[in-house]
Amino acid sequence: MKEKFKIWLSSPHIGNNELQYVNEAFATNWIAPLGPHVNAFEKGLQEQTQTKHAAALSSGTSAIHLALILLGVKSGDTVFCQSITFSASANPILYQGATPVFIDSEKDTWNMDPELLKIALQKASLNENLPKAIIPVHLYGMPAKMSEIIAIANEYGVPVIEDAAEALGANINGKPCGSFGTFGVLSFNGNKIITTSGGGALLSDDAEVIEKARFLSTQARDSAPHYQHSHIGYNYRMSNVLAGIGKGQLEVLNDRVAARRNNFERYRQYFSKHNNNGFEIQFQEEPEGYFSNRWLTCIVIDPAKNKGLTREVIRLTMDVENIETRPLWKPMHQQPIFSSSKSYLNGVSDNLFDNGLCLPSGSNLTEEEFSRIFECLDTIFSKY
Ligand SMILES: *Cc1c(COP(=O)(O)O)cnc(C)c1O
Repeated sequence: MKEKFKIWLSSPHIGNNELQYVNEAFATNWIAPLGPHVNAFEKGLQEQTQTKHAAALSSGTSAIHLALILLGVKSGDTVFCQSITFSASANPILYQGATPVFIDSEKDTWNMDPELLKIALQKASLNENLPKAIIPVHLYGMPAKMSEIIAIANEYGVPVIEDAAEALGANINGKPCGSFGTFGVLSFNGNKIITTSGGGALLSDDAEVIEKARFLSTQARDSAPHYQHSHIGYNYRMSNVLAGIGKGQLEVLNDRVAARRNNFERYRQYFSKHNNNGFEIQFQEEPEGYFSNRWLTCIVIDPAKNKGLTREVIRLTMDVENIETRPLWKPMHQQPIFSSSKSYLNGVSDNLFDNGLCLPSGSNLTEEEFSRIFECLDTIFSKY
């Protein structure tokens, strides 16, 4: 029997113009970490996120790292970070020799719990050890409760680095993700909603700090005819070739968001059939006024409410059919590398990690692929 094609969780989906822009970069010999595509891509990102300034970088991780540097985070400082996220949200805290403190999530959006954040800030304030920054994340494209988080952060005068790596195209009451924090961070890694194959961006309304980000990301060369350095520099700038891909991808972002939201609706409809039949599959629901880009559709299956059916049964059965699914992010407070870190917990992210599953969510999923996914799920549910 011919082996079935792999159905990916989230694969790149190229539009019509990316190759033309890459060809332009070659034809004009702008094969460097600067050039017209970089400038145009940055302008497009500013428009999309309604921010005043953007620096296109080599990754989302480098954008978080530069944000921490620009906020003066150094050894001995603490930084508060959402616990359930990809490790790249937290690793740059360690690059700076600072100490992360992890904050659990609330049940509505699965993101940083403003109540826990408040408790953590109160305690830090009493100990005269306020964090230098707070990093909330918009998990799977669902906006965190930003107005609550920003209000509490402002009360204590702590800047917010908004990790919008998964949330380009999402918004709260029309205000785009990436525009809430002192800094916004985007990622264009291969699995994100749009991609440059690898890349990221740092957003801010402050011209000076973004100028400084550009300076630091291109090796911090002082203005002199020779190579002169009075700061530690980084090689974090985006290539003009990759910015050409990004320019083309931005043109199709709205289509990609629509397709991913459509995936979510299809899954929701599909599972409602089982939910009408004694199951209780849960989704990441949009609070009033919230608009998720639905980067990944995720479900939560509590075996106690689902006739004993577990996330792992679904994951392993789909794996046999060559359908890629994945447990939700493993919270940072459970990671070996952060085992000695302090955290403020309420059980929400532990439950999400135990029972949550990300389903194939690419904007390029075909009808045939959806049929295979639903057929496989039908077989699983029919046994319970
Ligand atoms: C992908 C991702 C990052 C890192 O972005 P890269 O471009 O891969 O470095 C950071 N935070 C979150 C939440 C992400 O999903």
